[in-house]
Amino acid sequence: TDISLSLLPRPRRLLLLLNPFGGRGNALQWCQSHILPMISEADISFNLIQTERVNHARELVKGISLPEWDGIVTLSGDGLLYEVINGLMERPDWEQAITMPVGILPCGSGNALAGAINFNAGLEQAMGLELLQNCTVLLCHAAVAPLDLVSVTMASGTRCFSFLSVAWGFVSDVDIESEKYRRVGSARFTLGTMIRLASLHTYRGRLSYLPAPDGPAHRPISRSITVAANGRLPLTRLPLHRAVSDMGLCEERQAFRHCGSEPPDDPSPSPGSPPPISASALHPQSFIFEPAPEEPIGAPEGGGMDTGMGGPPDDLLVPLGQPVPPSWVTVEDDFVLVLAIYQTHLGADLLTAPFACLSDGLIHLCFVKAGVSRAALVRIFLAMEKGTHFEQACPHLSHVPVRAFRLEPLTRKGILTVDGERVEYGPLQAQVHCGLARLITG
Ligand code: ADP
Ligand code: MG
Repeated sequence: TDISLSLLPRPRRLLLLLNPFGGRGNALQWCQSHILPMISEADISFNLIQTERVNHARELVKGISLPEWDGIVTLSGDGLLYEVINGLMERPDWEQAITMPVGILPCGSGNALAGAINFNAGLEQAMGLELLQNCTVLLCHAAVAPLDLVSVTMASGTRCFSFLSVAWGFVSDVDIESEKYRRVGSARFTLGTMIRLASLHTYRGRLSYLPAPDGPAHRPISRSITVAANGRLPLTRLPLHRAVSDMGLCEERQAFRHCGSEPPDDPSPSPGSPPPISASALHPQSFIFEPAPEEPIGAPEGGGMDTGMGGPPDDLLVPLGQPVPPSWVTVEDDFVLVLAIYQTHLGADLLTAPFACLSDGLIHLCFVKAGVSRAALVRIFLAMEKGTHFEQACPHLSHVPVRAFRLEPLTRKGILTVDGERVEYGPLQAQVHCGLARLITG
């Protein structure tokens, strides 16, 4: 039979961005041992770029030619995807750019979105390599779903786009203070939590929010159950193109770019080791990534400071200097923590908002007021592993689904984070933009 090759779908082209310092620094090793073999088997062509510094990924995605890629995938923790999302939103063509499917392969210490993707797929909670393998298989399945983004505006006028959380108090303190224990991987959060519990702080603040209308604004996406009895993904759903790759056709479409330095040594496969990553996959071939030569005029320089231009208007917000609209609710109190979360997970093993969906158009505002005992706080965090903390009916713990909120810290010193990244301390406000981005969910 005579099926023209041109009728076959072309392989997906993914831009893989790897942070060699994410987590315990084993992203490159995991990439070569676990990710690339699976991706090659799924006949996905890719370009792999290692980031060299903070905001490198952000600058790269601001310069890429969109039609050349079917997706951008980060190999790190949540921080690198945060750069990618914000890089896309800083482009003059952000409206088009943000529809580029993005994915995450968990190689960091904070892998909340990977935990959410794993949960969304109906899989058992997993950590480390197991989570990475689940997410790699899901990535190969290629399904894409809308993802809510929350625009966060700070007092300086800086605006950023967040896909996970805004945190103040206990959660952000643990996140930032535990940075120094990053060599222990995700255990840094457990360690940090113990240390913070020993010196529990409270923070005075004013929290205002626009409650979401009753009932689910958007039907939760039904969670596809494709799990085998052992809770693992059936690998048989992977398109198998071994025959093609054996003939060497697959390899031609793959490229490796070790940005800024020499390609790694040819990892000549040991005899009999299955299946070959194929040495040629690790060398530049047909898809050489070409960043756009120049920054478009008017785009923010360097990617560090967002001018707040571009992106959809925040129609629910009034300027930070003005009082919130009358339909908003305001709580002034002492808090142990305030957490605005829009995905199910705060960490790969923290099912913080089990009711959240990728694009429910909701910000789940969770807060713990002062007066909570250490024991009760420990119980909340322990129960969070299974997502049962709200069932404890702790009187100090509240949850309100909202569309927008404003947080005004009244305690002079503290830490605020957006998606686990530290931001300027002071008043901030945010609103959700339902389904603005596209996430590879598998
Ligand atoms: P982790 O979960 O381990 O913290 P992240 O993906 O959150 O991993 O990355 C942590 C930070 O590292 C991010 O803020 C990101 O901007 C930064 N980063 C990315 N590439 C590099 C690099 N090559 N060197 C140093 N920092 C980097
Ligand atoms: Mg959501």
